[in-house]
Formats: sequence, structure tokens, C-alpha cells
Amino acid sequence: MNASPSSRRVERIRHDTRQRVLEVLRTERISPGFLSVTLGGPDLQGFTSLSFDDHIKIFLEEEAPTGEDSPPEPGARRIMRDYTPRRFDAMRRELVVEFALHGDGAATTWAAQASPGQRVRIGGPRGSFVVPNDYDFHLLIGDETALPAISRRLEELPARAKVLAFVQTADPADQRDLSSRARVDVTWTGGDPDALIDAIGGLTLPDGEGFAWAAGEARVIAAIRVALVATHGLDKDHIRAAAYWKRGVCAHHETLSD
Ligand SMILES: Cc1cc2nc3c(=O)[nH]c(=O)nc-3n(C[C@H](O)[C@H](O)[C@H](O)COP(=O)(O)OP(=O)(O)OC[C@H]3O[C@@H](n4cnc5c(N)ncnc54)[C@H](O)[C@@H]3O)c2cc1C
Repeated sequence: MNASPSSRRVERIRHDTRQRVLEVLRTERISPGFLSVTLGGPDLQGFTSLSFDDHIKIFLEEEAPTGEDSPPEPGARRIMRDYTPRRFDAMRRELVVEFALHGDGAATTWAAQASPGQRVRIGGPRGSFVVPNDYDFHLLIGDETALPAISRRLEELPARAKVLAFVQTADPADQRDLSSRARVDVTWTGGDPDALIDAIGGLTLPDGEGFAWAAGEARVIAAIRVALVATHGLDKDHIRAAAYWKRGVCAHHETLSD
């Protein structure tokens, strides 16, 4: 039985956070534009990630840390980037992060050279935005940077969930099989970011109360949020829209609201 609308509430949960120094255990090229990096080590004790919407901070210094507990080199510039905890195995103390290799950037450059035995410092997640599973339908929308979160959400949703996913990958070779117990309808769009906006503008929403989650490039996600509200009449409280990056800007993160 479906929950009544009033019983569905997103939950915001805060976590105590500390920095952890982890070791690169292995890397795997999932597709031409994606690299999975598995991090591990005793510092993952107590790590918690309750939502696909979570993010960790990855700290990169201009000078690589020299030892497990070493502080940043004096004068080293600390660079932080946000990434989705794609999968966490508490028993094995392994945390998987998937990097979209977009070319030029501190994080993408670090990931491309990551190799077993290297150490990296992370922080967070500081909080979790937990979306109930029992909406009548779930819209999941995003580009490559959102694909790790969307993949995780699809793996976590129960069989009764109905999902419409819209994912843009510049390279069709980065489309992947998305495993899920849920009933999932995926639309892949290609290199033109506006194709994702058009796909959302033209979609027919299923009946019932849905929740839309969208993440990707700032301009594109802003346009998608407008379409969800103005064209489809979705309640703003049932939308989570975030800029995961912004063209021409480093390390941009913004939750979009009025
Ligand atoms: C909450 C959150 C979760 C995220 N999760 C993931 C994740 O799991 N996997 C993932 O790959 N990314 C994820 N991102 C996006 C990632 O943090 C950004 O893409 C980040 O800017 C990459 O850092 P960088 O050092 O490689 O590039 P930056 O130094 O930040 O940027 C350098 C240049 O590259 C451009 N750029 C940045 N990202 C991209 C891109 N994807 N495609 C094309 N150009 C780009 C910038 O506009 C800038 O001009 C997430 C972002 C947020 C906010």
C-alpha cells in the first residue's frame, strides 16, 4: 500500500565527521570515461553513508602527503573535491568512488594516476539527505557526475519502486547496465547537454506522487528544475536539484532552490 503524501518526509541526518587517511587498494576502468577507485584501511572504522545523495570531500594537496598521518606540506595548497560514496563495505572496510574522467582538473588528474598503495585524505559525509523509498515514482536525472549516485540509488531501491532515469553521457560508450530490483526505465542522452533538458521537458510523468533528484552541470540542472516545476507542476519539496559542477569553474557545488 502506498503511504499517504503527508507521511513521506525527506530526512536530513547530520554525522560526526573527521578526516581519514585511506589507501588506494585497486582501480578499475569501468568504461572509457569512468574509473572506479577502491579505498580502504582501518580509518574507515565508523564511516557512515546513508544516502546516494551523500558526498565525501577528497583532499588533494599540491604536494602529495608523505605519510599516513602527515599534515599537508608547509605552503602546500589544499584542494578539495566532492565525490559520491558509490559503495561502502563496512566488513571489508572498502569505499568505492567512481570518477568521471573529464580531462583537466585536480581530481580527475589524481584519479587517472591513482595506483595501489597511494594514500589519500577524505572527509565526510557531513550529512545525509534521505529520500523515502515509497514514492509512487522516482525521477533520477543527471550527467556523468551524477551517474555514480544514480547507480547507487538504483541498487538500493526496493522491487516495488518505479523509476524513470535520464542520464546524459557525452560518450555513448559510457552508458552502462544499471542493476536494480526496481522497475526501471532508463533514457540515455548523448553529447549535447540540451538533449537532457529536452528529454525532461517532453516526458510524461506517471500518476501519483513522485520525487525528482537531479544533479549535473549548473546551467543544465537549473533548466531541468524549471521544467520540473513549470512544465510538470512538481512540488518544489519533491525536488532535489544540485549543481555538481559548473562549466569554466573549479569545484562548484550548489543546491538549487528559489
Ligand atoms: C555532491 C557532489 C557529488 C559528486 N560526485 C561525483 C562522482 O561521484 N563522480 C564524479 O566524477 N564527479 C562527481 N562530482 C563532480 C565533481 O566534484 C566535479 O566534476 C569536480 O569539479 C571535479 O574536480 P576536478 O578537480 O577534476 O575539476 P575542477 O578543477 O573542479 O574543474 C576544472 C575544469 O573542468 C571543468 N569540469 C569539472 N567537472 C567536469 C565534468 N564532469 N565534465 C566536464 N568538465 C568538468 C570545470 O568546469 C573546470 O573548467 C560530484 C560533485 C558534487 C558537488
